[in-house]
Amino acid sequence: MSGTNLDHEAAASESFDSIRAALFHPMGVPGVYARTAQYEDVLQRLSALITRLRDPRAEVLRFPPVMSRAQVEKSGYLGSFPNLLGCVCALHGTEAQILQAASLHEQGGRWTDALEASDLVLSPAACYPAYPIAASRGPVPAGGLLFDVSADCFRHEPSRALDRLQSFRMREYVRIGSPQDVLSFREQWMTRAATLSAELGLPGELDVASDPFFGRVGQVMAVSQRQQSLKFELLIPYAKGVKPTACMSFNYHQDHFGAVWGLHDASGVAAHSGCVAFGMDRLTVAMFCVHGLQPRLWPDSVRRALQM
Ligand code: 5GP
Ligand code: ZN
Repeated sequence: MSGTNLDHEAAASESFDSIRAALFHPMGVPGVYARTAQYEDVLQRLSALITRLRDPRAEVLRFPPVMSRAQVEKSGYLGSFPNLLGCVCALHGTEAQILQAASLHEQGGRWTDALEASDLVLSPAACYPAYPIAASRGPVPAGGLLFDVSADCFRHEPSRALDRLQSFRMREYVRIGSPQDVLSFREQWMTRAATLSAELGLPGELDVASDPFFGRVGQVMAVSQRQQSLKFELLIPYAKGVKPTACMSFNYHQDHFGAVWGLHDASGVAAHSGCVAFGMDRLTVAMFCVHGLQPRLWPDSVRRALQM
């Protein structure tokens, strides 16, 4: 790595340190933070800006941070990202069994050995619960479906970097319909994202991308995903010259969720789907990294975009 790059990496980690000190409170586990009012204010303003760009036909659904384990299993998540999934576990059994397990902690033992999986996982992405809900309503109507969803998401990847949280907010627009419906939706959002990042004064660039599929087989899946241009990302460098961070993604699932959930049109043709994901915490951190810790000193155009 060149000296210049090292300087830039140092600059990024320095700005992370000042952001961490000013806007986050550690909660005892890497990648999990309490956020201050000032940080939250910017995140909510970004969220409102995204809402102003919403297609009026979109149905709004706000999901809790947990979802059905069976639905995630059926979606194929374990085949792609088994390392990232967090499962909600609890003590099961009789009163005596539960008390015995809990008392292990007092005795310096491992009460967690007695845990068993519950019916819930921590949502790994905001859009997963939307497909079974859509499927429960019968055939997809002509013109397709559009959802505005959000959730607190969890991915098991502890890190000290402020752009890799274990618990983070994700907002998504989800399109279900014909391949043409989905592809033009994605195209439109990629154009809008470029405008949006310019309005926010963020140096964003769109590029083809792949998901972090697990293991050696996963590498083959990632190559195929890239070759078919199924995923794009909006990449924003948090400081000049540092490796940029993916702050939004533009995903085409083809008929994957259609096939899993039996989503089809009135004539029985499997529905295609796609989603545009906004990493709300990554976008918010980007704003503070690029424009500084004091929003009142941010450029006028940026403040106007956020209605500050
Ligand atoms: P994807 O499903 O494309 O992996 O994630 C959608 C968006 O969520 C990403 O573009 C990113 O902005 C956000 N995201 C993914 N992983 C993380 C993470 O570890 N930390 C944070 N803060 N955001 C993430
Ligand atoms: Zn999605």
